[in-house]
Amino acid sequence: MVVLATDRISFSYDKTQVIDDISLSIDQGEFVGIIGPNGAGKSTLLRLLCRILVPDTGTIHLFGENIKIMKNRIQAQRMAFVPQETHFSLNFAVEDIVRMGRFPYLEPFQKITKHDIEAINKALTLTQTASFRSRPILSLSSGERQRVVLARALAQQPDILLLDEPSSHLDILHQQGIMESLRTLHRDGTTIVIVHHDLNLASLYCQRLVVLHEGRVFTQGSPNEIVTRDTIQTVYKTEVDIIKHPRARVPQVILKTGGHSA
Ligand code: ADP
Repeated sequence: MVVLATDRISFSYDKTQVIDDISLSIDQGEFVGIIGPNGAGKSTLLRLLCRILVPDTGTIHLFGENIKIMKNRIQAQRMAFVPQETHFSLNFAVEDIVRMGRFPYLEPFQKITKHDIEAINKALTLTQTASFRSRPILSLSSGERQRVVLARALAQQPDILLLDEPSSHLDILHQQGIMESLRTLHRDGTTIVIVHHDLNLASLYCQRLVVLHEGRVFTQGSPNEIVTRDTIQTVYKTEVDIIKHPRARVPQVILKTGGHSA
């Protein structure tokens, strides 16, 4: 079943077109990675998918309904978005921020229920943020804050989670932690669409990769089909070698630079 679909969407900032006639379908339960060089339009596509931006032409359907006319609350129950960076001007406690993920389910002034508390605790545990749940957000490192933003999105219990380079501020331990959390969510039925600049992580965790290039879908398929020397060299304009991950048997990209030879 298709849960999210774009039909020939295009978008320009002022007069510069950055999304050019993209049609893309995401099936329920997929784990899709959007990759491509800087400026390809990946973040813009994600912002269109979650209605932060509105396409100039074309349509987007979420569970068969045009998102243009969908109520915010319904959209937020179905889809959550984790942006690349979030700026906090107020110094809320972590737990209060994660609790905001429950707003789409609450009537004005309604008290949170046992179910809401369970969703919040689960989100804190999955993102390994429970140990600092009482701390003010501005006292955390940027990597810790990013995990709190993910926790807020998980507390929303969305069917679809959209993430824009969620691990770009994180060290490799926490990058892996986030990707493993996403894998767990995916196994539990959440559809994941993630923009990733790290081709090797994308290849390790995603089932399908969509390559954006100059605002268009250049190609898409499984990591084995997509992460090839020809495709990577053409799109990223850099010489690479491709090796197989020793355990996962998926392609991994290494730069074809001499380094310091012995
Ligand atoms: P990616 O995520 O693939 O790096 P983006 O979607 O961020 O690409 O950007 C695509 C193009 O749109 C780039 O050329 C970028 O400079 C431009 N762009 C992004 N955001 C804006 C904006 N708010 N105003 C004008 N141009 C923008």
